[in-house]
Amino acid sequence: MLKRRIILPAVLMAASLLPAAQDNPPGAPPALELTLRPAAPDTAGIIPSVDVTLVFPVFATVELAFLPNNVETVARTITLVTARDAAGPLPLRVTDDPESAEGPARHWSAGRPVQGPVTLRYRAPISNRPAPRGAAPPLELRSDTGAFSGAGASFLLLPRSAAPDRLRLHWDLSAMPAGARGVSSLGSGDRTVLLEDAIGRLKSTFFLAGRLQLFPEQPPERGFFSAWHGTPPMDLARLMASEQKLYAFYEKFFSRPAESPYGVFLRENPVNPGGGMGLTDSFIATFGPKVTAEDLTITLAHEMLHTFAGGLDQPAGLEGSWFSEGLAVHYARLLALRAGQITPAEFLHDLNSTAGRYYTNAFLGTPNSEIPKRFWADTRIRVLPYDRGSLYFAVLDTQLRAASHAQTGLDELLMQFLARRKRALPLDETAWCSLLEQALGTPGPESYRAMLAGALQLPESGAFGPQFERTTTRLRRYELGFAPEVLIEPRRVVRGLKEDSAAARAGLRNGDEITRPVPQDVVQAQQEATLTLHVSRAGQSLVITYLPRGEEVDAWQWRMAGGPPRR
Ligand SMILES: [Zn+2]
Repeated sequence: MLKRRIILPAVLMAASLLPAAQDNPPGAPPALELTLRPAAPDTAGIIPSVDVTLVFPVFATVELAFLPNNVETVARTITLVTARDAAGPLPLRVTDDPESAEGPARHWSAGRPVQGPVTLRYRAPISNRPAPRGAAPPLELRSDTGAFSGAGASFLLLPRSAAPDRLRLHWDLSAMPAGARGVSSLGSGDRTVLLEDAIGRLKSTFFLAGRLQLFPEQPPERGFFSAWHGTPPMDLARLMASEQKLYAFYEKFFSRPAESPYGVFLRENPVNPGGGMGLTDSFIATFGPKVTAEDLTITLAHEMLHTFAGGLDQPAGLEGSWFSEGLAVHYARLLALRAGQITPAEFLHDLNSTAGRYYTNAFLGTPNSEIPKRFWADTRIRVLPYDRGSLYFAVLDTQLRAASHAQTGLDELLMQFLARRKRALPLDETAWCSLLEQALGTPGPESYRAMLAGALQLPESGAFGPQFERTTTRLRRYELGFAPEVLIEPRRVVRGLKEDSAAARAGLRNGDEITRPVPQDVVQAQQEATLTLHVSRAGQSLVITYLPRGEEVDAWQWRMAGGPPRR
């Protein structure tokens, strides 16, 4: 979860998904058709490419961004691009734009007037190259153990304009060995679906095919399923059986029975295992040799929470992330505990990681409005919406219980707020504040605004139930030891080194070039975790390891108190 790794929120918003008949009924609008044909795996089990066929009822210029979300797409490497319409072969003009809102893209447009539907074919190669600019969500095409996977955003040429609302996905597995299967965020095998935004949906659909493992063996039409390839270092089928139960628990808690499949996809990641990304109605997570079942349990509990709770309409984006991320952190551990998926000790471990990271954060008082512009530049800012937001919800729960003589708490207030969505009312700050005022009077909105302004969030001793109690301790602040912006620059050249820091004592110098990405969000929550920098200095390679900790400060933690569980 977030104490461990920041998981990127879905870039593309949900569209409703309705299973529909397999064929075009008479009078139905024409469908956008997609066929995927993976090549045969080589002797090492690597699938070298996927042949893509798209049929557009109406053709507009198609495009593919070069580097969306820092993910290298196949825009520069695709081959055998051809197009046809009713008049025969359709010449395509290729242009690259210098900049656009989502970064530069390559475009393919018709070289003559188009007649009727257009069939576009091309081959998308799978390079298995690590992300060129360090950490990136696991969306690029990748292949191992006789299977491939990737998100539509990394390999599909699609128009920017609105598309038909019907989508037909067909898997051509004729080149694959017997037993190969194709699954996607849309469900198992070939699918025909009605979508509000077929283009947006295709970009945020994850595809896997080949020799896969699935749980359950036959994915359902609605609700939880999981699919993976590679060799996970744990019993994933067992873990997924437990996640399926948690998903069912969420459905009850949020009174929201599944209307479409919810797919959890996993694959190996050689660079930053354990991370992942939420996509529409699905989640992609990665594993490596050191990722544990506990890491994945909390990560998945967090991501499924996003699916059910969603985020604010206003303010959206990073400024509203105190709500979506705070809720996900708070409820992932709480509901996993209530559902019996984690033990009280695991609950405490997770809570104390959040609390330890928050109370030692040198930028704890940063106003919420300043978070967006410094989010990516400093790990201490990046984790604030998660840590502060989740502790605010714990404080609020205690206030609501006190005001209602333990009749209602955060659960009820949240359900009231989320119910606005069913009535097509916005989830915004105004509505949130008026609910707070109804329940708590003026102190409700006041303490909310104080939280946004940076006030310390300190839940009471019994905030998590009589089973746990608060204790004080001394913990050391996270201290990188040099200017943190360095780590997101194209060339990571150390500057602003603090002379008395652990980094300097370990031998780091201004001017050293750090040659590998340095993930910090995890390390920040672990007092004893060291950082290892791979450094180049005057043509020499050095490895520098240190404990990135500075000043010791007062902090709060929770421990077992011997009382009964809350419910
Ligand atoms: Zn999240």
